[in-house]
Amino acid sequence: MTGHSDYADVVIVGGGMVGLALACALRNTGLRIVVIERNEPQVRKSLGRDCRVSAIVRGNVRILEGLGVWKYLQDDASPMRQMRIWDNQEAGGIRFDAAEIGEDALGFLIENSCTQRAMHKAMLESDDVEFCCPAEISSVEWQQDQVSVKLADGRVLHTPLIVGADGGRSWLRGQAGIDCWQRDYKQKGIVATVRPEYPHRGNAFQRFLPTGPLAMLPMTDDLCSIVWSAENSEAERLMGMDDDAFLDALNLTFGPILGRINAAGDRAAFPLKGQLAKHFVRERVALVGDAAHCIHPLAGLGVNLGLRDAMVLAQEIADAKRFDEDWGELSVLDRYMKQRLPDVLSIMGSMEGFHQIFTHTFPGLKEIRDMGMRLMGNSGAIKQLLMRNSTGLSLPVPKQIS
Ligand SMILES: Cc1cc2nc3c(=O)[nH]c(=O)nc-3n(C[C@H](O)[C@H](O)[C@H](O)COP(=O)(O)OP(=O)(O)OC[C@H]3O[C@@H](n4cnc5c(N)ncnc54)[C@H](O)[C@@H]3O)c2cc1C
Repeated sequence: MTGHSDYADVVIVGGGMVGLALACALRNTGLRIVVIERNEPQVRKSLGRDCRVSAIVRGNVRILEGLGVWKYLQDDASPMRQMRIWDNQEAGGIRFDAAEIGEDALGFLIENSCTQRAMHKAMLESDDVEFCCPAEISSVEWQQDQVSVKLADGRVLHTPLIVGADGGRSWLRGQAGIDCWQRDYKQKGIVATVRPEYPHRGNAFQRFLPTGPLAMLPMTDDLCSIVWSAENSEAERLMGMDDDAFLDALNLTFGPILGRINAAGDRAAFPLKGQLAKHFVRERVALVGDAAHCIHPLAGLGVNLGLRDAMVLAQEIADAKRFDEDWGELSVLDRYMKQRLPDVLSIMGSMEGFHQIFTHTFPGLKEIRDMGMRLMGNSGAIKQLLMRNSTGLSLPVPKQIS
């Protein structure tokens, strides 16, 4: 392949969950897609499971079904039937139940590596997708009608559209000169697999603490995945503990709802930031997933937003092809950005609001928050609306792309 020059209809930089979803969505359009992924898959295990898990909301399971990914994934997915949120045990908190909106689950907990494996299988069902991994881009050059992408092995790809699905620290975003608004939460998210004494029965739990939320999420085989967001100094303290001390701290903080948490696997910590690209598109460039926006994991919606980006962008590309338009032109890409911004901004806004309400300790704020939770808990209509919105069920089902 060295020195070889080639054409691709779309080049996707980054083969994480969002880049792969985009490739899956485009695989039956007759377009030639090249995905460039820098790293071979690496899985950090915790009690034998990938310590990185994502809650895929009910509405987005429909996307994965439509993409032909869900059939490879459903045995690894653990349903979240209920979610309980509270900040102190006396107040009782609020409970969301999928049955209240006529669904079997609010979402499904899946190890990220399982999702990626399933997407990979679905993507390679088509000969029109090429997955280059490990592969590094050495340069991109913008020309009038195309982008030239030079790989480190000397191969050059010419394409009308390059898509940045290369995560929060997107290299392509920098190359395209797109700046970001950033918000450092000064927190880390500690993740690990844990084994509680009692079965979780599909319950997810989120406890809000002044230092950040602690989520206990149901996995298969009655394991749970924790995402413990804590201020940097507290996170360092928790990461520095030996296993027994960490288990004691976890039990003390989470409480006895699932009995004693008996085992915790290896921990990993991720810095938490909020980030929004000032533009999702430029002539011949589009950003999707974390490359376009990063949100606090407290509602577990980051990859869910990215999946919706991938579907909308794929639809715009496919429509442009059908109507003989150049899908790398800004006028086409703008349609993608205009459709995605309201969803992204509203989720980012609510996450920021939640974060502020639960971390600030202004006098009286706690009382207002408890009253709000009680009101929400007592009002079926508000709760149902919130559930339908946060599970993506209020959004239109994406069309099948072909
Ligand atoms: C603790 C924690 C818990 C979370 N829980 C949830 C949850 O429950 N639900 C949810 O929806 N979201 C959750 N998220 C957010 C979610 O993990 C991210 O939104 C999601 O991983 C973003 O996917 P992505 O494909 O856009 O980016 P990434 O997963 O970052 O993938 C980017 C890919 O691009 C590759 N890459 C980078 N640079 C280059 C380059 N120059 N060339 C080629 N390849 C490159 C990388 O190797 C990587 O494979 C959580 C996040 C954290 C930190």
